[in-house]
Amino acid sequence: MRAIALVDLDDTLFQTLRKCPPDIPHERLTPLGFGRDGAALSYATPRQMSFLGWLAETTHLVPVTARSLDALRRARIPFRAAVCAHGGVVLDEAGDIDAHWAHTIAGKAAHHAARLAELAEAITAHAQARGVPINARVLMEGPLPLYTLAKHADADHAALFAVVDAAVPSLPPGWTDHRNGNNVALIPPYLGKHHAVAHILPGLRARFPDAAVIGIGDSLTDAPFMGLCDFAMMPTRSQLAAGMFDGG
Ligand SMILES: [Mg+2]
Repeated sequence: MRAIALVDLDDTLFQTLRKCPPDIPHERLTPLGFGRDGAALSYATPRQMSFLGWLAETTHLVPVTARSLDALRRARIPFRAAVCAHGGVVLDEAGDIDAHWAHTIAGKAAHHAARLAELAEAITAHAQARGVPINARVLMEGPLPLYTLAKHADADHAALFAVVDAAVPSLPPGWTDHRNGNNVALIPPYLGKHHAVAHILPGLRARFPDAAVIGIGDSLTDAPFMGLCDFAMMPTRSQLAAGMFDGG
């Protein structure tokens, strides 16, 4: 009996070179995430590679990622079903887009499009006024505006957060302000990995009634979907584990 592993990707199975442990030589890293031009962007350590191999061999592996569908497909991970775009897109067990979920998301996205654009414009205006190089935009999945994302051109997190704090002093109820490294994602209430996992779990439970479901992730935004699983696992050096293992 295989377990079902619902697995976040970035900063769980691989990360950018900047975030790789400095004691591991570059030649021992395996590129797993690639840009549109084919250039390697994300790398796994040897231990992450063995962890991925173990998951691939022993579990029914379902990526649950903030990546767009396009970016997910540029990751060298074995999968068919997947949750991507912070839960905005679900791929079914055949690897096809879940049309029912897409319809649900499209209906909700339409109501938030204007607000998402306003948030991106406010961040851009504040960044320009302060001369801070920040790219703020509405993340689209096909025609759907999903969430607003801001990044600093030189990964200056403090400067990024200061600009977003000034530009967006508060969010409407139910919205999520998610910060991890050089990313600030402003996410409307209907969007979230846990919503998509709640959508796919009944089908997985029906197919594999006694299989243990393991949620694996590194970020605070992973916690809600991990909480829907039977077991949860996280990298010990991660946003989610911060402070948890410092006692020794
Ligand atoms: Mg992650």
